[in-house]
Amino acid sequence: YNVPKAVNEPVKSYAPGSPERRLLLDTYRKMYNEKVDIPFYIGGKEFRTGNTVDIHPPHDHKHCVGQYHTADKEHIELAVEKAAEARVKWAATSWEHRAAIFLKAADLLAGPFRYKMNAATMIAQSKNVYQAEIDSACELVDFLRFNVEFMTEIYSNQPVSSPGIWNRMEYRPLEGFVYAITPFNFTAIAGNLPAAPALMGNVIIWKPARSQVYSAQVIMELFKAAGLPDGVINMVTGNSGTITDVLLNSPDFSGVHFTGSTPVFNSFWETIGKNMNTYKTYPRIVGETGGKDFIWAHPSSNAQEVATAISRGAFEYQGQKCSAASRAYLPKSLWPAIKEAVITDVKSFKMGTPEDPTNFINAVIDDRAFKKLSGFIDQAKADVDAEIIVGGGYDDAVGYFIEPTVIVTTNPQYKTMCTELFGPIITIYIYEDNQWEEILDVVDKTSEFALTGAIFSGDRYVIDIATNKLENAAGNFYINDKPTGAVVGQQPFGGARGSGTNDKAGSVWNLLRWVSNRTIKETF
Ligand code: GLU
Repeated sequence: YNVPKAVNEPVKSYAPGSPERRLLLDTYRKMYNEKVDIPFYIGGKEFRTGNTVDIHPPHDHKHCVGQYHTADKEHIELAVEKAAEARVKWAATSWEHRAAIFLKAADLLAGPFRYKMNAATMIAQSKNVYQAEIDSACELVDFLRFNVEFMTEIYSNQPVSSPGIWNRMEYRPLEGFVYAITPFNFTAIAGNLPAAPALMGNVIIWKPARSQVYSAQVIMELFKAAGLPDGVINMVTGNSGTITDVLLNSPDFSGVHFTGSTPVFNSFWETIGKNMNTYKTYPRIVGETGGKDFIWAHPSSNAQEVATAISRGAFEYQGQKCSAASRAYLPKSLWPAIKEAVITDVKSFKMGTPEDPTNFINAVIDDRAFKKLSGFIDQAKADVDAEIIVGGGYDDAVGYFIEPTVIVTTNPQYKTMCTELFGPIITIYIYEDNQWEEILDVVDKTSEFALTGAIFSGDRYVIDIATNKLENAAGNFYINDKPTGAVVGQQPFGGARGSGTNDKAGSVWNLLRWVSNRTIKETF
């Protein structure tokens, strides 16, 4: 298959004085002062119902940058109808034309759409310039380009034939629609979850997260500009209970592509199980859910490297990555050096609006997150088995700001060691050096999740032992590096246990979930 070889989109530096910095910040300011009016999209048409939700930047929650319109039950039913209509032509479109649309979308995003997509992500999701760039520009471009290559890898996999007999494998789309539900924290995931099954010939009904609707609209504009036919990706906003209810009750429901919380994903399995007899086909259930990601360091590791992994891995994007480091197990002998380096690093982080690129920390996503996280901080201040060594402040007068906070605990089962927080808090347990091997069992058994994890050691035998003992503890396992920042095509991403179905976003394994194969035997 002749397709352009995918390469990772280079990350722009946005250095002071660079043209890209000026362009991005000008776009940000312009969008910040406009009022956007975001429709939902069914069958290529824009719908504005007048039932609207205001969009407030998390770092400036009294300011309003616009609104989005919400759909009712009838609109979701219409989306099912329009998706079925669009499916007739889309499923019959040859792979080159589907690929061309998404490759063009990638080029447009790498070019003219880059600044608008980044600015929307910075404004409504409160990401700093660099976090926006690696997510909404580079990672989404990468997903779109690499998926085309993965698709052709799949298509190349064909059965053997013999004289007189030609055996063929057809990789057909599922018979129905795919429901994509996406999170606020990655614009790239929001784009990929509908785009990946659509590339494979499926039609999609997509519900973005409340706080991500701004960049979701830009994604819809991008796909339209790239020539995606009407009705292939339908984006609906509104009450998630109603949307899910209509879609999971439809006989045309043929799969769900989900990133979000474990309880919501579990409730999908239950509903799908109950409705099993109503579907035409067994639905594909693909999801990435929570994480309680760890850093474990051996006495043989480099203290400075461990400290950097903690401060970057725990606090990039305010810790609102499923992959964020949120618990660490460190040896007593290295602790003084690690502690000093972490405190110095964290104190150097500036906090504020994304409009100032020197602010490493911006706001957490909303009031609910702010209350939950500040509650855990207050609790740690009161508990005898916890001590806050840096951070611990919070203030929601202007935006939902929580200081990057490091808790040290004497209890390896302390609440914030076990609970997913999804914010800028990491909890550290210090162990006696000679207990390094037993502690690996604690790392393994403390969490129901298994998304990412990092081990640090300079000793190959130790690395071997830790890698084996933690074989089920992380779907993305890092040796001597922080547990965040997986790159499409380099570290396929996803976890098992309570973290999801481990179908690795941006990979052949993920795309295989969106095809229903037909084996053809032709005899001459
Ligand atoms: N892929 C991202 C990373 O490696 C995390 C994605 C997520 O938060 O869901 O950091």
